[in-house]
Amino acid sequence: MTTSATTLYSNGFVVTMDDAGTEHESGWLLVEGTTIAAVGSGAEPQATARVDLKGAVVTPGLVNTHHHLYQTLTRARAQEADLFTWLQELYPVWSRIDAEAQYAAARTGLAELALSGCTTVFDHHYVFPQGREGLIEAEVQAAREIGVRIVASRGSMDLGVSDGGLPPDALVEELDAVLAETERLAGLLHEPGPGALVQLAVAPCSPFSVTGRLMEESAALARRLGLPLHTHLAETLEEEAYCVELYGCRPVEYLDRLGWLADDVWCAHCVHLSERDIAQFASTGTGVAHCPTSNLRLGAGVAPVRDMLDAGVLVGLGVDGSASNERGDLFLEVKQALLVARGRNGGAAMTAREAIRLGTRGGASVLRRDDIGSLEAGKCADFAVWRTDGLELGGADDPVAGIVFAGPHRADRLVVGGETVVCDGQLMHTDESEIAQAHRVQARKFSG
Ligand SMILES: [Zn+2]
Repeated sequence: MTTSATTLYSNGFVVTMDDAGTEHESGWLLVEGTTIAAVGSGAEPQATARVDLKGAVVTPGLVNTHHHLYQTLTRARAQEADLFTWLQELYPVWSRIDAEAQYAAARTGLAELALSGCTTVFDHHYVFPQGREGLIEAEVQAAREIGVRIVASRGSMDLGVSDGGLPPDALVEELDAVLAETERLAGLLHEPGPGALVQLAVAPCSPFSVTGRLMEESAALARRLGLPLHTHLAETLEEEAYCVELYGCRPVEYLDRLGWLADDVWCAHCVHLSERDIAQFASTGTGVAHCPTSNLRLGAGVAPVRDMLDAGVLVGLGVDGSASNERGDLFLEVKQALLVARGRNGGAAMTAREAIRLGTRGGASVLRRDDIGSLEAGKCADFAVWRTDGLELGGADDPVAGIVFAGPHRADRLVVGGETVVCDGQLMHTDESEIAQAHRVQARKFSG
């Protein structure tokens, strides 16, 4: 009989994010293969190897529930624009995307996320210029190389400007082609079940760039293949006015009509939800990707996250694309979620631990993953280690609240499925400066 190798991560302040919110101030984490074998404090179990965390805080790996990795190529553009103006300026620039650029963009975005403590990334890609093959395969390759889990998506746009949509006609696709390509990628990439490193979601872009028919057919395809469904929703007041004019109803009612309010769906933003909308999200199990920095950057508003949580809505965090949140740091969103909740509802609106929960457990629930998001026996060994001996945490009696209030930070260590992806604040499998240099070569295609 052989026993598999075990690693004991000892002497850490372990924040499990289990249902009871258990924390082990002087704790340890035992990893066996790809999963967590045990978590606790006191007497340490035997292990093949031992890593001394020297009092650092350990949290579950962060889960990013909304991103557009390709947008790292076009940062700091349309600097004072609202969402529609920003999109109209950027669509023609984004139409230059190809697999080489997508790969460079994904490596940069995923490296930033890994260094911010993120172990699972959802990417919403919806720009597919004619004849450019291999875009999704390129970002999945980048995720495998860096060592993080990815939920990629086959997004889509089929409502061009001449039919009343926002994107240029040259950037929209035919419905049948979208569905066929989505099904091909699902067969190629999607891993069902616990421990999946690569998954695929179906993600038509938004009410103002996709026809109602493609929304319905996308949902039917996703449900036939057992894939999760995602879209942008209720991001701005302009979007609400657009929906009222074109569809005769507000965005949430529109989604309801299309059969999209359901427990296999999560929507990005949801800034402008009424009380009734929130109740509907809660009763149907529809999830939300809260992206506070991007919403502030585009002047879209602040999502009513306290009200959503009180109503029982599933909420995770997203950095959103790097063209509307130039920083791809998910820990910054943990802090930002706390700050905007307090800005909207007062100082008691969100605790530091609730903010960490949104970024970990909340994200996992939104992606319908019960194998990640908390540090419990049997779950994937996905966690981040945060040093507490630096300048910014001096005097912080409560290091867990301290890391949130003083964030963001570079993760000292990141482990994904038992594999060390970041050690001493450096990527283990790839070279950060090489990634940055290769990215600048590709980004030149998008300037001017
Ligand atoms: Zn987005």
